[in-house]
Amino acid sequence: MNLVAINIQYGIGRVGVFCRNLGHRLPRPIFNFKGFDFLPIDTLAPILYIITMNRQKTKNLPVPPLSAIAIAIAVAAAAAPAKDTLTFAAVGDIMMGLNYPSSAPSLPPEDGALTFESVGGALRGAGVTVGNLEGVLLDSGGTVKRCANPNVCYAFRMPERYAKHLANAGFDLVSVANNHSGDFGDAGRAGTARALKAAGIGFAGFEGTAESYVLEKEGVRYGFAGFAPNVGTVSLHDHQRARELIAEVRKKSDIVIVAMHIGAEGPKSARLTRQNETFVGENRGNPYQFARLAIDSGADIVFGHGPHVARAVDLYKGKFIAYSLGNFATNTSVNISGISGYAPIVKIRTDAKGNFIDGEIISAIQDGERGERRPFLDPSGACIKEIKRLTEIDIPESPLFIDGKTGKITLK
Ligand SMILES: [Zn+2]
Repeated sequence: MNLVAINIQYGIGRVGVFCRNLGHRLPRPIFNFKGFDFLPIDTLAPILYIITMNRQKTKNLPVPPLSAIAIAIAVAAAAAPAKDTLTFAAVGDIMMGLNYPSSAPSLPPEDGALTFESVGGALRGAGVTVGNLEGVLLDSGGTVKRCANPNVCYAFRMPERYAKHLANAGFDLVSVANNHSGDFGDAGRAGTARALKAAGIGFAGFEGTAESYVLEKEGVRYGFAGFAPNVGTVSLHDHQRARELIAEVRKKSDIVIVAMHIGAEGPKSARLTRQNETFVGENRGNPYQFARLAIDSGADIVFGHGPHVARAVDLYKGKFIAYSLGNFATNTSVNISGISGYAPIVKIRTDAKGNFIDGEIISAIQDGERGERRPFLDPSGACIKEIKRLTEIDIPESPLFIDGKTGKITLK
């Protein structure tokens, strides 16, 4: 239900009608009587369709005609929430450099300050920017995970100060539901939470401690939940719990964003199987099915990652799905050759109810001229062509059209 308070005020020389979508901070005028200025809204108690008229020495002032009031009510009813178009940007895996092992750290030039330099403009241009934090923010210590082969043990521990690079690049939300957020045990999870909080970035995906998050921005409540098949994260295998959690987030949000770390890994895993996928003997879930479960439970947008390559995009019940956004900023230890280096930014616009309007794929590749491992805007449009190709072969029935040159995503 849309709760809208309407306040009509008029005084000498000034008449205004204001609409306030309840739960949203900023009132905005929705109807102007020509030739008058607006008065500030009197923020009223949340009551459906309140009309107040404040006469202020108005004996000689014309009363707004009833027809104008009726129009104002109709406009207000249609206008909720206050922002009628919402924009989102999403990217895949982010791992900005390693301070582990302490004896042989692998940190980027200028302490990571350049990580998002080439793509920051694209990320900051969206209302809400979301990514997957593939690792732990912790300066030292933690209980490193046990690896079957210590020589090829991928334990991702980043300096806590690197959280500010995410904030500076415009990230509002990151998922910590993935196969590396538990690499350093409880101390790693605590460090990650501490660093993200200090940087003002919302996060979700830790089982029991940070299962969901509600970001309030520009008067809109964006609910966020992250799921993965890994211990310590909110499990995507527990479908009943996933349904309940998303429904809970739905109740306290205007828009619900779900992140899923799901599907088999590697350059041979770009195709969507619509089946349960396994990787090194691990059940990594069924992205096609889980995205639908999320949307059926109340999600408006589903962003996937985990395969380390991009996959198709899709639409279900009017809601947008990106099955995998690949590697975005993986400074070390992750293969970035060929399609593994594709670092797409997917931007979409929805209406106030989270229904897809249109979108855009911005191509970036982790391949600097001097071999730098960070995303660079890619004028060749390689990510656009790849996601278009995969969408056409994997979701032939998709109502989405991707322009292979511009990357624009529209409804067919
Ligand atoms: Zn992963």
